[in-house]
Amino acid sequence: MSSRVVEWQPPEVAVSGGGRFPVRHVWCVGRNYAEHAREMGEDPERSEPVFFAKPARSVDQSGRIAFPVETADLHHEVELVVFLGDGGRNIAAADWPRRIFGYAVGVDLTRRDVQARLKKSGQPWEISKGFDQSAPVGLVVPAEQWSPSPEILIDLQVNGVIRQQASLGEMIWPVNGLLERLSRQITLHAGDVVFTGTPAGVGPLQVDDRVKARVQGLSPLEFTIGAAATTA
Ligand code: MN
Repeated sequence: MSSRVVEWQPPEVAVSGGGRFPVRHVWCVGRNYAEHAREMGEDPERSEPVFFAKPARSVDQSGRIAFPVETADLHHEVELVVFLGDGGRNIAAADWPRRIFGYAVGVDLTRRDVQARLKKSGQPWEISKGFDQSAPVGLVVPAEQWSPSPEILIDLQVNGVIRQQASLGEMIWPVNGLLERLSRQITLHAGDVVFTGTPAGVGPLQVDDRVKARVQGLSPLEFTIGAAATTA
């Protein structure tokens, strides 16, 4: 009898200064900056963090993102991204820093028209978020070299024009508290990647747009929107 073994390798992202980080799972949070919650029609005072996932393979460092299929409204969401070197279940905020391997700038690309349609009909909107190349990230900077603090600025430019700008202090749930809340619901593991939410100013991207996303002190993320992806 022949043995049937499927072999695959986890996607990896490059680490600043050398090395690779194998991606196990990508978690994201919605509504973590009050102004963005308002622009999406939500009340930030009353909203709990909304967690969702993207496929590990949605992480991308190629510098060129194919405009996704079945959308006419691709949106940028600049986010601070956390890479876990260790995980756990029900871990208190104070116990997260030593479990964090590093940080990067990321963009949670969103098919906003698909999301709006699914929300309106009460259906899950995961597929509006979890398409191929939907999670571009910059080089991962080890936690020994950088850690978040409230005054640090996060921004995103399209073709040289600032579209999103905020400070990390505007997060409703800062990184460690966010990880505490997520770990109440699921067990987190080494290799997990967590997108921590976007500030206000999300908006559409077109083919040939040049996107530059920054968090002060981290390696900037730059990519271009390429021609439409094909389904073939
Ligand atoms: Mn997001």
